[in-house]
Amino acid sequence: MRALVLKGPGRLEVESVADPRPARGQVMVRVRYCGICGSDLHAYHVGHPQGIIPGHEFAGEVEETGPGVEGWAPGQRVAVIPGLLCGTCPSCRQGLFNLCERSRYGGLGLTAQGAMAEFICVESGMLRELPRDVDLLSGTLAEPLAVSLHAMHQGEFRIGDKVLITGAGPIGALCLKLAVMGGAAETWVIEGSPGRQEMALKIGASHVLPPGRESLHRIRRFTDPGVDLALECAGVPEALDTALKSVRPRGRVVIAGIHQEPARVEFNRITVKEIQIRGTFGFIGEMESALELIGKSPAGFRSLITRVAPLEEAPGAFRELITGKGGLKTVIRID
Ligand SMILES: [Zn+2]
Ligand SMILES: [Zn+2]
Repeated sequence: MRALVLKGPGRLEVESVADPRPARGQVMVRVRYCGICGSDLHAYHVGHPQGIIPGHEFAGEVEETGPGVEGWAPGQRVAVIPGLLCGTCPSCRQGLFNLCERSRYGGLGLTAQGAMAEFICVESGMLRELPRDVDLLSGTLAEPLAVSLHAMHQGEFRIGDKVLITGAGPIGALCLKLAVMGGAAETWVIEGSPGRQEMALKIGASHVLPPGRESLHRIRRFTDPGVDLALECAGVPEALDTALKSVRPRGRVVIAGIHQEPARVEFNRITVKEIQIRGTFGFIGEMESALELIGKSPAGFRSLITRVAPLEEAPGAFRELITGKGGLKTVIRID
């Protein structure tokens, strides 16, 4: 089969590799579309692990089932929960599969072969059938939408909340969409890229501002005493600072961005305002709701996909995204 293979830092090649075979309990999926995620870009940037096929945000059709698999048949349209888990560590035993201690934040396309290929084999328990109204292209958004839903749940989002989102990349943009759909009173977005600013406005953000002190002053002045919920989706120290300085007393801050470096934090602010800080990582039970939400407005979600490129153009699409010229979400088409 044809597959996209990571060769080193900034080096991807489309090559011919052996077809995978479904082991016991596995299903072989013919991949139709696979989105490029920030974690794929990180692997591409560092060039590790070499030889990996990236991609975990995918949709396709069941091609073949391995021994011992029941309830799946060729042709069924599916999306996949891509996290890997051991099932036996203390986190897994409590059902906190997204926090599995042995998977080491692993998953398809990161520590196991991913979906930017004609076929992939996955455990049958990780498959979810696409609802009738969800097409294969918008189905690729189910995984990042589940991540965003989990972030909103962690932040205990409520109808009528004033919400700040720092960073309108795919996760931030999907959080924004959920906040708008879910009845936020106001949505503030901090984003520097003009293309992403425009997308945030299209999704329905009340205010979109560039990063910087001026924007922070405006948020504080116009939302006094502050926003109820801040979702930090940028992964940079200034965004975390803005989130902490924008929330009202007892406001909630959810850290969804992956920070590459430790950030300096003014802890007294957290203390004297009783700010509640929550982490969020992946998702647990949100895949089903994500698929249902996409089914309610597939075109609305599909409009967040700014480029669909064939597998042969994937190396160029990765390069564009990492240099910041790539729009919001690129999805690779495999045919
Ligand atoms: Zn992802
Ligand atoms: Zn585990």
